Amino acid sequence: MNVLAVGAHPDDVELGCGATLLRHVARGDDVTILVMTAGQRGQVEGMSRHREQEDAASRLGVRLVWGGFEDGSVPEGPEAISVIDRVVADIHAEVLYTHASRDTHQDHRATATASLAAARRLPSVLQFETPSSQGFEPTVYVDVADSLEDKLAALRAHLSQVLRVGPVDLEAIEAQARFRGFQGRIRYAEAFEAPRLAWDLSTPEALAPVTRLAVAATG
Ligand SMILES: [Zn+2]
Repeated sequence: MNVLAVGAHPDDVELGCGATLLRHVARGDDVTILVMTAGQRGQVEGMSRHREQEDAASRLGVRLVWGGFEDGSVPEGPEAISVIDRVVADIHAEVLYTHASRDTHQDHRATATASLAAARRLPSVLQFETPSSQGFEPTVYVDVADSLEDKLAALRAHLSQVLRVGPVDLEAIEAQARFRGFQGRIRYAEAFEAPRLAWDLSTPEALAPVTRLAVAATG
C-alpha cells in the first residue's frame, strides 16, 4: 500500500501519526511524508529543523519530500493543492494522513484543507491530532503498542522542539497514546478523524495461500 502523510511543519507528522506510519513500514508499505514548510519560525539558534526532519524521517524509515512554503503562510488553495497533487500522483498514494481541520494554527488548517482537496480521489483519508487541535473527535484507533517507543525515538530527533518545552513533550505524548488506547478499548493508540476509510480485509501477503502451503509442506 502506498501511504502519504502531509504535515505543515517538521515534527507534525511524527506527533500525529508517527507510530501508525511505523506500523505501515513494518507491514512493508511504501510511506512518504510531505512537510509543507521548513519550520523556520520555531527555529532554535544553531539548530536546523530541516536536518532534524531528515533525521526523524530516516528513523521512521520513510521518504521525505519538502513542500517549500513559508512557515506561517501555508496557502490552502491551488498553489498548495497542486504541490500535494503532484506527490499523490508520483507515489500513487492510496491512503492520505493529514492534520485535523479544527486547529488554532493557520498552517495546520490550511494544510488540512489543501490535503483534503488533493485527496479527493483517494479511498482513505485520515486526520490526526497535534497539541493545537481543537475539539478533536476521533472514530478510528490504530493499535500502536509495538511502535510507540520508536515514535518517541523519532520525536527525539526534533531536539530543538523537545528543548523548547511545549511543542514536543514526550511524557504527554505517551500519556495521550495511553488515553486514546483507553478510548479505543485497547492499550496504546493513535486516533484519527476519518472523512473516508476503505477497510481492506484481503489476506495480507505474508499469509497468502502459497506461503501457507509452503509452510505446511516443510512443517
Ligand atoms: Zn505544526
